[in-house]
This record gives sequence, C-alpha cells and structure tokens, in this order.
Amino acid sequence: MTATAPREEQLWSRCAGCASLLYRKRLRRNLDVCPECGEHARLGAPERLRQLVDPGSLRPLADRLPEADPIDFVDVVPYPHRLTAARASTGLVEAVVCATATIGGHPVAMAVMDFRFLGGSLGCAVGELITRTAERALDERIPLVLVTASGGARMQEGALSLMQMATVSQAIAALREAGLLTVSVLTDPTYGGVAASFATNTDLVLAESGARMGFAGPRVIRQVTGRALPEGFQTADFLLRHGQVDMVVQRRSLRGRLVALLAATHAGAPTRPSVPRQEPASHRERLADDDAAAARPPATPAADGTAAVRDAWDTVRMARHPGRPTTLDYLDSVFDGFVELHGDRLGADCPAIVGGVARLAGRHVMVIGHQKGHTTAELVARNFGMASPAGHRKALRLMRLAARLGLPVVTLVDTPGADPGVSAEEHGQAAAIAENILALTVLPTPVLAVITGEGGSGGALALAVADRVLMLENAVYSVISPEGCAAILWPDRSAAPQAARALRLSAPDLRRLGVVDEVVPEPPAAAHDDPAETALRLRAALLANLLPLLDVPPAMLVRLRRQRFRRFGAARAGQRAGVR
Ligand SMILES: [Zn+2]
Repeated sequence: MTATAPREEQLWSRCAGCASLLYRKRLRRNLDVCPECGEHARLGAPERLRQLVDPGSLRPLADRLPEADPIDFVDVVPYPHRLTAARASTGLVEAVVCATATIGGHPVAMAVMDFRFLGGSLGCAVGELITRTAERALDERIPLVLVTASGGARMQEGALSLMQMATVSQAIAALREAGLLTVSVLTDPTYGGVAASFATNTDLVLAESGARMGFAGPRVIRQVTGRALPEGFQTADFLLRHGQVDMVVQRRSLRGRLVALLAATHAGAPTRPSVPRQEPASHRERLADDDAAAARPPATPAADGTAAVRDAWDTVRMARHPGRPTTLDYLDSVFDGFVELHGDRLGADCPAIVGGVARLAGRHVMVIGHQKGHTTAELVARNFGMASPAGHRKALRLMRLAARLGLPVVTLVDTPGADPGVSAEEHGQAAAIAENILALTVLPTPVLAVITGEGGSGGALALAVADRVLMLENAVYSVISPEGCAAILWPDRSAAPQAARALRLSAPDLRRLGVVDEVVPEPPAAAHDDPAETALRLRAALLANLLPLLDVPPAMLVRLRRQRFRRFGAARAGQRAGVR
C-alpha cells in the first residue's frame, strides 16, 4: 500500500464481469463493485475490514504463531516456500486477519479470511487464530462475525487441517451455549472444509452478492457426475433459493445489515444469566496442553503394532480393497442384536449411512457408520459410502437420540468423502456436515470413532469428532484424496502415490500426530484376508476404549473432548520433533 510511481495497471483495472476498463480510484470508491455491471471484485481482508468497521475502532489481535510445517509437506514446491511467497505478496502473516472492532457502535470480534493467501486455506494457524477470536468473543461476551473466503482445508497440513474444522466449530458451540450471536458472511469463494464448518454452523449466514459457496467445487462435481451444472449453481441466489442462507446482500448494504442484526440481537445478550463460565483462554490452553501430554502415552513404534512399514500408496489401495469388511459386516461380527433405524425425518433415507442400536459385549450402544459394499451392485446401491445431506442428518438424529437415551455412540468411518453431487449441494451438504461436527463436540455421551477403511475429509470428520479415535492398521484418513491432491499440487494425477506419502494419511503417522489415539492391528496380510480375526481385534479395542469412558460424567466427557480438539492448533508446533 505504499505510494509508488503510478503505472497503467495501477490506474486502471478490467472488470472480471463485463471487461469494462475502470478507473481504479472510482472502482475503490464504489467498494470494488463494477459501476457498469455490478460485479463484486474479491477483497483482501484489510480492505474488507476497512469497509465494515467503524473508523478508528479496529484493534487487531495477535497473529504471530510458531512457524509450522507439521507434516514436512513437499510437493513440487516445499510448503514453507509457498508460505513465504504468500506473505510477501499479501503483506499478511496468514490467510485470516482477526480483530475486535465496533460496527455501528456494537462491539464485535471479527475474523476475516483472505483468499489471496494460499486460497484462504484453513490450516492449523488459521484455525488457531479464528478459535482465539471466538474465545475472545466469549470472554468479552460480544458477537462473533466471520467473513469467509476459502478453497477449503490446507492440504499441506494434512489431517491436522481437517481437525481445525472441529476446533473452530467447538468454539462456535461455546458461543451458542453462552447465548452470543455468531454471524458468517460468505464471500466468493467459500468451499470445502470452511463451508462445511464455521461458514455455515453460525446462527446467521449472509451471502455477499455474487458469492459462491459449496462443499464440493464445480470442477469436482462435473468430473464425478459427468453432467453440466445448472445455471447459477452454488451462487448466492441459488443458496437463498435452496434455503442455505438467510439473505443475499449487496456489498454497499453489508455494513448496514450487520448493524441492524447486531442491534436487534444486542439487547438480550449481555444481561442473559450467564451459563457456567469457563476459565480464561490462557488457562484453558495450558490445561489442554497438560491434559494432552498426560493423556497420551509416548508414541513408540511398538505401540502402533506395526512390524513392517507399508508404503502409503499400498495402504491406500488396501483401505479401498473391495473385500475389506464393511460397517454391516462389523455390525454382524463385532456387535449383537443390531436394529437398524432409518430416515432423517425431513424426507429421505440415505443408504450410504447405516445406524441403529446394538449390543457390544452385552452393553447397549448406538452404532453409526458409512456403508460401502463388496460388489459393484452393492457399491452403487450405497453410493460408494458417500453420504448425502440426508445421511448426515440421519446420523445427527441418531447421535442426539443416543445422548437422550444415555447410550454411548460408536461410529465406523469408511468413506471416500461426502457425496459431491448437484442434489447434495442443493440440500445443504456443507451445512449438514458442519452441524454434525458442532453437535459432536458437545454431545453429552461417550463417542468412540473407528476409521475402518477410508477416512475421506469432511465426510469422515462428520462422524469422527470423538473422545477416542481408533484406526485400523491399513485404513487411511486424509484431508483430501491423494488423486485430488496430486491434481492440484503436482502436474497431474499420476503423482497420487507421492501425494499419498506427503499427506501422512496412514495410521502410524496419524497416531504420531495425535489425530488418532490408537492403531488397531490387522491380521498379518490385511483385514480382508481374515475378517473374523479382524472383528475379534476390533471388538477388543472397542471394549478397552469404551469401558473407561462409561465412568466419566457427561460434562467432563465434553470438556475433555473439547481439549482433545483444541490442541491441534499452535500447541502442536512443539510436538513437531516427533513427526518425521
Ligand atoms: Zn463490470
């Protein structure tokens, strides 16, 4: 922003909508909205804040976090180089700017994402900074306003990025419990893990005119469905028509709308009887660190139960093996007396998710899992284990039912990812996943998750925010498929095996990163060679992990679960030495 000699390209800019050549100063005066066609150009976070908050009220929050390359990710360019370049070109430290400010005199805590910084991707630092902003809102009892712009979770930080969806969601859950307003403003574009968490699980969701939001991107959906997308697919107006947002707002009206909403909800909040307050953030963080250290035994290779280390790509193929036991197989072999429950009560029953009551060694539990199949016909009938929004809502219904009945929840995760289809987007895939993640962070009953095959990104996390997360030895759990990652960061998809290695998606790697608590060893070859032995081992592991949870009071369970998912941000930087 320093004054430099004016050059042609700084004086003029071309509208992306109508190709008009516009005088920069005039465009800026018009809030970067084209006066000819109304196209809303993307805004950086500093300019966005300038447009929204009262002059002189902005108080930036600290944005320095320990340097982190938690999984030593390298594609064609090492991750730290990409970070350095992003910092140089944007002048920002990370892909989000956080502050307190007033808007029309109403104090708020704000986190504004910046798409220019690595596509606004959600990594550990971004998750940590937004979480701290939400905690600041809680401490000061003021509303939280989020402005999103993101391609999704940051691939270069692997499953730890995925965990940030839970970390931020639970901070939003705390604001919900405290009766404090949360607002998200969707700006163009908002996709993937950000769409499927804090962009949509806030109280109010505003979409800026022209913004697009969705769980899966248009390119992926076209690729998967092989069909052309409907006109205006995933745009703000589409989202409004399909009930996904509260309103579509022109940029020039955005500040006014926020002022009105903050004013309307301001009266009740500060005088509301306060729910039990938590300790201040610093104390809480310390607790989280202590507990994390105390709760986790030192990672020794022996604890992982793996003798020979398998190449990550071989493990991916093993995890996808059609003979691998499915959720229904385990319901038959590990559990007794399964009674399946159907339906989301909103008009659909998704075959990719099965759930119901069952017994585990005589104890009643609620089991919910993704269902694939062994034959092509079965796989097609189950949509390859890719859940629709109805599937996520069925799972949510069963989780809440379990909590009401005092039943522990056991989830079996085996999905390439959530359904990336047109209808799924129309029915609110992102919000459905986001709501499950948030609900699980506060579910007052024990939750035990097992990654049994493929743990594919947000679709997997929608069933895996748990007190204990187990993983079968040859399962994988990842922020993105190796093929998807290769297509983006390497010249082409054939680099999937390299991407699989870089993503650290295997059970032993995730055990070391603390994403997974325990690896369940499979029989010598793999699960599909000896399903009966696999079932015995899984049953033993489930019992060993579930029984201690049954004695923990629900409030304590929720507290400990929150600490578990709070520690994946900056706290994790110190543990980096153990990664490699
Ligand atoms: Zn234009």
